[in-house]
Amino acid sequence: MIPTQIKVVYNNLLIKWNDNSKSEIKLANLRRNCPCSVCAAERDMQGDKYIPLYTEDQLKIKSISAVGNYAVGIVWADDHNTGIYDFGFLKKISYL
Ligand SMILES: [Zn+2]
Repeated sequence: MIPTQIKVVYNNLLIKWNDNSKSEIKLANLRRNCPCSVCAAERDMQGDKYIPLYTEDQLKIKSISAVGNYAVGIVWADDHNTGIYDFGFLKKISYL
C-alpha cells in the first residue's frame, strides 16, 4: 500500500492510501516511535520506565520527503531528521 497524500493538520499526520483508506497519526505518537537508531537505543535503555517528554519543537514537523518508493523521511522542528518511516510502519502506528 502506498500513500497518495500526506499532510499535517494541527497535531496529526493525515495519510490517504491508494486503497482509499485513511490514517491519522498523532505527531506525538510519530515522534515517540521514531525508528532511527538513536531513538531506538534511548527507548531500549530506559525500558518500561521511559516517559517521553517533548518540547514544542520536537513535536512540530518542518518537512516531509519521499525516501525511494517505500518510506518518508521526517525533519522535525528541532532538526531531528534521521527517522525513516516506511509505509507499513506508518500504517501500523496509526492504530496506536
Ligand atoms: Zn529518532
